[in-house]
Parts: sequence; structure tokens; C-alpha cells
Amino acid sequence: MKLKIVQAGDPVLRKQSRPLTKDEIRSPSIQLLIDLMRNTMREAPGVGLAAPQIGKSIQLAVIEDRAEYLTRLSEDEIAETQRSAIPFHVIINPKLTILGKSSAQFFEGCLSVAGYQAVVDRALNVRVECLNEQGEKITIKAQGWYARILQHEIDHLNGTLYIDRMKTRTLTTGENMTKFWNDQSIEQVLTELE
Ligand code: ZN
Repeated sequence: MKLKIVQAGDPVLRKQSRPLTKDEIRSPSIQLLIDLMRNTMREAPGVGLAAPQIGKSIQLAVIEDRAEYLTRLSEDEIAETQRSAIPFHVIINPKLTILGKSSAQFFEGCLSVAGYQAVVDRALNVRVECLNEQGEKITIKAQGWYARILQHEIDHLNGTLYIDRMKTRTLTTGENMTKFWNDQSIEQVLTELE
């Protein structure tokens, strides 16, 4: 079973979501929701899904970057984007800290803005303090593409979408991404479009 992913325009995507208590996290309803969100993310497929995207205004997101997704990318793309497999996990009530000043620009998409991608500048190193699916405190240190996923999902919990941060002139449909931009470096894309 999977959940319906809400699309841009639904006010739930623009709300500040509320934190969960430890008791709520351990409740059968939240544990079931986590299972359903995992299935929904995998079927989409996506590398992250935040609760507002399935219509729930709570501070919970699921993340997973599967090894099989990486097989679709060239070695150059994997190296350039600093992407690596990330096991399934849950972040709840996250606090994000940007570490250092380095950032990177890459195309990014969102299951709630279906069919489009655009270049977004994101910090390369972050720390996230949050609770896991058992309500235990954890600290995540992330870099590269994983840091991008965390920033994207935590934005969702605060009512922000990548379109608020994108370089607007780089917006493309998925079809045109394949047709025009996939084979170009991000520098070439920006030179041509900006
Ligand atoms: Zn998203």
C-alpha cells in the first residue's frame, strides 16, 4: 500500500509542521505511517519523502538512497555529485546546522513538483540533530548529495520547496533534461542559461 503524494499548490506544503513527542513516535499510528512512507518513497521512486508531502503537517521525513539508483549514473556523475548509497532511516524534529562555507550547484527535483528539475545551490556539509524512529536522539553528519537530501527534506518540514531556492532560469521538464542538459556539466548549463 502506498500514499498519495500531494502536489505544489496544496497549502500543507507551505505550513510549518509540528514536532512529535516521543510517545507519538512510538505509537502504532506513527510506526505504520513510517512503513507507508517508506513504501511510497520506494515506489515513486525517490530518495526522500517528508510527511507534509503525504498531507501530514508533522516533523518527520524518511530518507534512502539505494545502491541500485547509483547504477543508473556514470562514475563521473557519482564523483561530481558526491553521491553514495544511504540506508533507509527516519528523521524526526530535525535541527539543521550548516558546516563551513562550501556549497555545490546541481539539478534537483521533488516528488511534489512532479515532472520538473532545476539547479539549486546547497551546502556541502551539514549536521542534523534529530530523533530516530524509536524516539532516540541522534546526530547525523553528512556531506555531498546526502547533505543535499537532508536540506531538501528539512525544508519541507518548514514549508519551503526547492523552487524557493532554485536558479529560476534553469527550470526544465524531465523530458528536456534528457534532451538538452544531461550530458553537460553544471558549469556549461549555467554558462548557457544565466
Ligand atoms: Zn521534495
